Amino acid sequence: MAQGEFDLIGRYFEHQNVKREDVDLAIGDDCALVRVPEGCQLAISTDSLVAGTHFLEDADPKLVAHKALASNLSDLAAMGATPAWVSLALTLPTFNEHWLNQFCEGFFQLAEQYNVQLIGGDTTKGPLSITLTVQGFVPNGQALTRSGAKVGDAIYVTGQLGDSAAGLALLLADTSCHDLVLSHALKERHFMMTPQVEAGIALRGIASAALDISDGLIADLGHIVKRSGVGAEIYIEQLPLSSELIAFCSTQEQAQQLALSSGEEYQLCFTVPKHQCIEIESLMMAKGIQVSRIGQLTQSSGIVLLQQGEPIDWQVSGWDHFVSSHK
Ligand code: ADP
Ligand code: MG
Repeated sequence: MAQGEFDLIGRYFEHQNVKREDVDLAIGDDCALVRVPEGCQLAISTDSLVAGTHFLEDADPKLVAHKALASNLSDLAAMGATPAWVSLALTLPTFNEHWLNQFCEGFFQLAEQYNVQLIGGDTTKGPLSITLTVQGFVPNGQALTRSGAKVGDAIYVTGQLGDSAAGLALLLADTSCHDLVLSHALKERHFMMTPQVEAGIALRGIASAALDISDGLIADLGHIVKRSGVGAEIYIEQLPLSSELIAFCSTQEQAQQLALSSGEEYQLCFTVPKHQCIEIESLMMAKGIQVSRIGQLTQSSGIVLLQQGEPIDWQVSGWDHFVSSHK
């Protein structure tokens, strides 16, 4: 395979509908040239997806592209940033035009939805992997970090939790459960997640801390707890579960455990001072964004799960390192 084919790939990505006025020079030169609006900070995040680790080698390239970009946009959402630009480092085992076409379709579809322009990248030959760097804007000082949460703040999540893990289980088992519609819905939730950009922007100036759920609620909330120097209690009855997840799981308890441990959900977990709970709930309702109040921050260290007010000792993955701290 000629290196020339790989050199041409940069051109492959030049054709896109998003053309932002803050991009002075995009794909085609040695660097891109862009402008950050006055009064804003630049939020930057990089994530890699490696075949065999983050997606199956033969996965639909359109879905892989969606997942790659959506997970990166989710990081911007978690900071309260407005997405602007993305660059793409692509490593491909072969020059496969069909794969590239499908990949571009999935990538640009989502990029257009968020007005994100692909401004450059690199293409090399090797084991299939995708690295994206996304950049976005946040008004000076308004970024949502992990460290601002206070004892007494309410804990919220957007959307529903657990579907991604259920979808992945079905994909890995390469089966569908008896209900094909249900299987399809859960598998799609795994790949076609929606980054919570609008929610993140709405939380500027209100949330005391925020992050996106990529490793599982318990594990990720653990970051807020640690960085903010607080503890947390979670009311497991309040976990938002989809009807599909409940139908997929044999018990309510299993659905709740999946909701606590499921990574790659890309919902936001955020904390809000108690006196602003009504404000945030009506703001989110007006925007059509589902939010659930699932707990509160406490003085003790670690995370406690409460079922009808009583602590329970579930072995949820990502949970082990917190158990010891409050025993
Ligand atoms: P250089 O030798 O200067 O690194 P390249 O041949 O790698 O240049 O890339 C040429 C142009 O194509 C650059 O502007 C680069 O940003 C862009 N490019 C290369 N690969 C990609 C890609 N996968 N996605 C987006 N742009 C790319
Ligand atoms: Mg290069």
